[in-house]
Amino acid sequence: MPGVELVLCRHCDLLQHLPQLQEGEQAHCIRCDHQLDVRQPQPILRPVLYAASALFMMLLTNLFPFVSLGVAGNRSEMHFFDTATVLFTEYHQALAILVWLFIQAVPAFCMAAVIYLKLGMIYKLPARIWVARVLFMLKPWSMVDIFLMGLLISFVKLVANTDISLGLSFWAFCLFCLLHLRTFQVIDRHEMWSKLAPAPKPAVNAIAGLSGLEQQLKLCQCCTAVVAMTQSHCPRCDSRVYPRIPSSLQKTLALLFAACVLYIPANLLPIMRTVSFGSITDSTIISGFLLMWQDGEYPVALVILLASVIIPIAKILIMFWLCYKARQPAAAKGKFTTQVYLLVDWVGRWSMVDVLVVAILATLVRFDLLMSVYPGVGALVFAAVVVITMLAAICFDPRLLWDQHAVKGDRV
Ligand SMILES: [Zn+2]
Ligand SMILES: [Zn+2]
Repeated sequence: MPGVELVLCRHCDLLQHLPQLQEGEQAHCIRCDHQLDVRQPQPILRPVLYAASALFMMLLTNLFPFVSLGVAGNRSEMHFFDTATVLFTEYHQALAILVWLFIQAVPAFCMAAVIYLKLGMIYKLPARIWVARVLFMLKPWSMVDIFLMGLLISFVKLVANTDISLGLSFWAFCLFCLLHLRTFQVIDRHEMWSKLAPAPKPAVNAIAGLSGLEQQLKLCQCCTAVVAMTQSHCPRCDSRVYPRIPSSLQKTLALLFAACVLYIPANLLPIMRTVSFGSITDSTIISGFLLMWQDGEYPVALVILLASVIIPIAKILIMFWLCYKARQPAAAKGKFTTQVYLLVDWVGRWSMVDVLVVAILATLVRFDLLMSVYPGVGALVFAAVVVITMLAAICFDPRLLWDQHAVKGDRV
């Protein structure tokens, strides 16, 4: 059909026709229901306005006091940037850099990149392709929403013994989180790339309803272009293109075993040291949960149990199961396994909430011997577990969950 675009689904590798969409319409994969394309109303103005407003809120967040805390007549004031700098100056550099990247550098870069790309389409700015590649690579590592959840948990932990007052920056940060979320809702990978540069023409004999692998076609995971098997790099974005992520299962399994090994010290080592009226208490993830439970803070205790114990263990076990499933015959896998993969991929980053709670408490609670909180080495090890399991999900190729499904002649 001339004029109709052919696309490969990034989750199931099915080649299909992409209909001409009207404003506000979406196109989904007919086999796995993945969103292939969406036509956003005002595709340039709205993302630019949301991202610019988000950046302005980020600026305000850094200008004014964030939160102040009072204990027995003493007061401590925290600025947003302190979350990273306090940790950095106290020999927790690795944790400080992670926190700074997740809550400041990556979110700010993503917002600036959206503005640059959208304006770049009008003014033909240089390096647009490179900026778009980095934007979609960094998107999962922006954790401002998790930081906001960490703040709320920290406040519940502190509210019984301290007097908390929220500064202007806190409210600016809440608005930043909303605008940041909204910006990503109004941009679509396929739509953005189709406006940045024209997609390469697919092979003339390509047949919709068969997998890309069967027709010597592969998907550029970065820009969604359909590329011939003979081409090593994408003609549009210059990314390396593979029919499947090379050694996907081996890489995923290696990372999962590393996460299993690190998960043991992450639970045994203290994640936080609390000094209260001169006495020192080290707490692990489990003892932190038990303490909250005994204090009657059941909702927060359950959030900590869910984020720090249940989600990481479930994610590791489910990823092992998916690796096993990927090697099974076609009948044993398909849409359900893909949906499970997408769920664990999305939910896994929320495990970082406990690490961010430690970073927030360590910045905020500074009253020397009266009451102080210091991060423990367990927090860094646990952060490593979360990062490694996120990398494991990235290395896993969900198209393996459909292979052998679309055998020759099996049209969908
Ligand atoms: Zn699909
Ligand atoms: Zn590409």
